Amino acid sequence: MKQNDHLKGYPKAKQLFRILGPILAVIGLLFMIVAAIDFFSAFGTFEQPDQFYLFFIGGPLLFFGLAMSSWGYMGDIARYGAAETAPVAKDVTNYMIEGTKESVTDLVSGIASEIHGNKGPARVTCSCGEVNNPGAKFCDNCGKPLVKTCPQCQADNDSDARFCSECGAKLN
Ligand SMILES: [Zn+2]
Ligand SMILES: [Zn+2]
Repeated sequence: MKQNDHLKGYPKAKQLFRILGPILAVIGLLFMIVAAIDFFSAFGTFEQPDQFYLFFIGGPLLFFGLAMSSWGYMGDIARYGAAETAPVAKDVTNYMIEGTKESVTDLVSGIASEIHGNKGPARVTCSCGEVNNPGAKFCDNCGKPLVKTCPQCQADNDSDARFCSECGAKLN
């Protein structure tokens, strides 16, 4: 808190500018409108536009009003950009990195388990729907043989295999 003491007058000047800026801008704009109405209403007549000097007051007033209000609010926008947007952007970046990491990890572990699953002993699903333990030769549920033993090389094949995966012999 103490390190901000020297900035104490700063927000007050800003607050004044924030209030004064739009007021000046509005007054300036009104002056210009009055001047313009006077100018154009005097156009068709032979009258001199006697209110036209307001244009030269309203113009600078509008300009300074806009400058003051933009200065008054600009700091906020800058601070908003620095303090508010940065953590959000950081969070989003972190989130995206985390998400990417997670999805990459998922993908890698998915591929790993896929490879592992294909290499390791697979659970055998019977035609009745029962999932039997790896290496089971007969169904737990209905007793049907889950493997076809090759008559030629004695290798175990899936019960629905038509040819031996080891030697290519035709299975019954
Ligand atoms: Zn079965
Ligand atoms: Zn075989």
